[in-house]
Amino acid sequence: MENKRNGGISVDREHIFPIIKKWLYSEKDIFLREIVSNATDAITKLRRLESLGVREAGNGKYKITVTVDSEAGTLTVDDNGIGMTEEELTKYICNIALSGAVEFIQKYENESDGSKNGIIGHFGLGFYSAFMVSDRVEVISKSYTDAPAVHWSCNESGEYEIDGGDRAEQGTAVIMHVSEEEKEYLSVSKIRAMLEKYCAFMPEEIYLVDASESDKEVKAGEEKKEPTPVNDTTPLWQKQPSECTEEEYNDFYRKVFSDYREPLFHIHINADYPLNFKGILYFPKLTNEYETIEGQVKLYYNQVYVADNIKEVIPEYLLMLKGVLDCPELPLNVSRSYLQTNTYVSKVSAHIVKKVADKLSSLCNTEREEYAKIWSDISPFVKYACMRDKKFYDKVKKALLLTLTGGEKRTFEEYLEAAKEKHENTVYYATDKALQAQYISMFESEGIEVALFEHPIDTQFASMLEGYMEGVKFMRVDSDVADMLKGEGSADEDQALKDIFAETVGEKVTLKFDVLKDESVPAILNVSEQSRRMEDMMKMYGMGGDMPPAESTLVLNTASPLVKKLSETAQTDAEKAKQIASYLYKLSLLSQKKFSADEMQGFMKDSFDILMKL
Ligand code: ADP
Repeated sequence: MENKRNGGISVDREHIFPIIKKWLYSEKDIFLREIVSNATDAITKLRRLESLGVREAGNGKYKITVTVDSEAGTLTVDDNGIGMTEEELTKYICNIALSGAVEFIQKYENESDGSKNGIIGHFGLGFYSAFMVSDRVEVISKSYTDAPAVHWSCNESGEYEIDGGDRAEQGTAVIMHVSEEEKEYLSVSKIRAMLEKYCAFMPEEIYLVDASESDKEVKAGEEKKEPTPVNDTTPLWQKQPSECTEEEYNDFYRKVFSDYREPLFHIHINADYPLNFKGILYFPKLTNEYETIEGQVKLYYNQVYVADNIKEVIPEYLLMLKGVLDCPELPLNVSRSYLQTNTYVSKVSAHIVKKVADKLSSLCNTEREEYAKIWSDISPFVKYACMRDKKFYDKVKKALLLTLTGGEKRTFEEYLEAAKEKHENTVYYATDKALQAQYISMFESEGIEVALFEHPIDTQFASMLEGYMEGVKFMRVDSDVADMLKGEGSADEDQALKDIFAETVGEKVTLKFDVLKDESVPAILNVSEQSRRMEDMMKMYGMGGDMPPAESTLVLNTASPLVKKLSETAQTDAEKAKQIASYLYKLSLLSQKKFSADEMQGFMKDSFDILMKL
């Protein structure tokens, strides 16, 4: 062709192209996001010119079309945006952009964490990422001005030619000749999946066209289907919270996270200047406790998808939430180690923490009934977060609930207020409603509320609270005989009985005589809170195994008719008394732990022997 202009991409051409091809290897898909977001930018620029009155509003609608032509081996991204003149194309595509890319790569290629995960956004590589999948890229562009269209074609070594292009409407087509090794990018379903991931909320309509389908004639009687964009140009987070309905929030959740369940509740963040970011976070519903607590928080930059679960932006302990965040001010063109020390990023993160805490507090204050209903579902998340971050704890401490054995919920304030008279500053708790039923009923019959620990995290959480709430202590119902469970008078020690028990239960168990209010209870076994916590800890670290509880105390209730009878028997028939003592001990053990197979068999045998004597 006459008047052809040849050139070579100026900056270190022979170095840069191989790097572009290799770099980001595992995240090659990102190239599409780059090219499509350039297209949306081009349309945004044109819209701006219209609103400034520089250009008259066109009558067509603005859109981006992504065409897969597997026969021709091309993937084309076409926009009807601002377009480029030859001068602009040379300036933006051939020089500036590339030098930016060179600088960018040089800067981060050798960073310690500068691997493919090092730079979160990968923005800035921009247009040239097309070469990751193509052996030739063509650009046909027509500026919105009168300038003629221009055609640019560049091979994988960076050698390009420019000549006149054939295009009437303003805008740009980027035609990527997909290389032999990257043929998967000619699959319509692959491209659709990529658009759904990276471009789902881009602000201009994106249409996906399969060239092999579009030639087909519409059959008689069949209506031509109206094409629909693959993206949602006005994602919910961009709307004012007051304009969004509950249904919209739930629909959005289901669509974005492909989760059919309804979330428990959401938090819509709309932070103004200077933070200027938006997002919606959801507390997901877990079906069972074994489900892994793993959320997903998608990060966007002006509606362009960046990455999931960026710990610098949202603290790791909140990553069990699901949601979207759009941070247009975020410096994405940097390494993660930079983000960690960036004050803007830490402010964003702190703001998110505050919003989550505020939401919990306001739910607790204004929708207590609803809040109580979801508490069991959300409490592991909330407790975990409190354990990871004292500041978070300080913000939500008033909204932390205790579940009582009867199912009711109390705030700590309420619980401790009720406890004031009988057991000031002590929270009684049970970890197993069935096993510890007898202890629980002793407390409840005295009008004392017992908290139920439902989740393994609760014991650790309680230890943490003891550190934070001055004077408050947690006592398991079977740790000690609380004063208010005791009856009038003091118990006399019975030496004969003492000897018998010493023989039958061994030395590990301390024997104690007490007067309990509840006469129906002859004996209970207690393990001090401290030694049980030690034991729990040993178990947690895999030490200890299935040992009988250490340092336990067998309390004999001298008010119980059975114990009274046993005292008499000890005087007359030592053998029989031993048998009863041993059986009584085993009964009290039942409330402490599950029997092993041997213990169970022994217990059954004893029971049968006793039945024989009836
Ligand atoms: P960045 O988008 O980060 O500036 P790119 O390498 O992606 O870097 O693009 C360089 C420049 O090329 C853009 O800033 C823009 O001016 C121009 N450009 C790229 N794609 C288009 C397009 N589809 N329409 C108009 N201009 C474009």
